[in-house]
Amino acid sequence: MRVLVIEDEPRLREALVDSLHQAGFVCVEAGSAAEAQFCIDNYPCDLILLDLGLPDGEGLSLLRRWRDHGVDLPIIILTARADWRDKVSGLEAGADDYVTKPFRTEEMVARVKAALRRVRGRATDCSDFACGVTIDFDARRVWVKKQELSLTSFEFNLLSQLAQSPGSVRSKSDLSEHLYDADEDRDSNVLEVLVGRLRKKFAAVMPEIVIETVRGSGYRFALETKAK
Ligand code: CA
Repeated sequence: MRVLVIEDEPRLREALVDSLHQAGFVCVEAGSAAEAQFCIDNYPCDLILLDLGLPDGEGLSLLRRWRDHGVDLPIIILTARADWRDKVSGLEAGADDYVTKPFRTEEMVARVKAALRRVRGRATDCSDFACGVTIDFDARRVWVKKQELSLTSFEFNLLSQLAQSPGSVRSKSDLSEHLYDADEDRDSNVLEVLVGRLRKKFAAVMPEIVIETVRGSGYRFALETKAK
């Protein structure tokens, strides 16, 4: 999952990015309204953290413009303005949540996860799939028939990207976009290696195919979601 962090105070931005990294997210950073617009136009993201007071414009104008243009990602406002009227105008402009500074980065990460859960339409962040596979997206753990699989952070990120949309084909470039920070080098060979490692780990405990290769297109999570 990739978060666009828009904040002009470098130390706060770094602290947010660090906490998000620790929670397994990748990030794109913007320190101005212009950079934020560039990032939105160039990098697919899953959620936006938006500071309202930016050196070259108002976060609120960005928010309104993006909602007008159909950007439907969850957006959480960060601001030092604690007045209720500011909160109301932020929410009315289309924000999903509102956090006033100073805040603990742990709280911010929890709100990011909650906003993403709402997008996926789930109250909890645990999904059961066919063949006894359970994924806890929040705790970042995977079980096959109650036996836990040990995955690296990268392997989990890839699995979680695929399992968020079971059955749909995800291209390699789309997956890479959601697995790396904006400025990181990416290489489709790395993705193939990761898929291979994940397959091996699943194959050690179950015969069914979990990740299918769709020739010329990408990969697909092959297990269906089990109704609760
Ligand atoms: Ca600011």
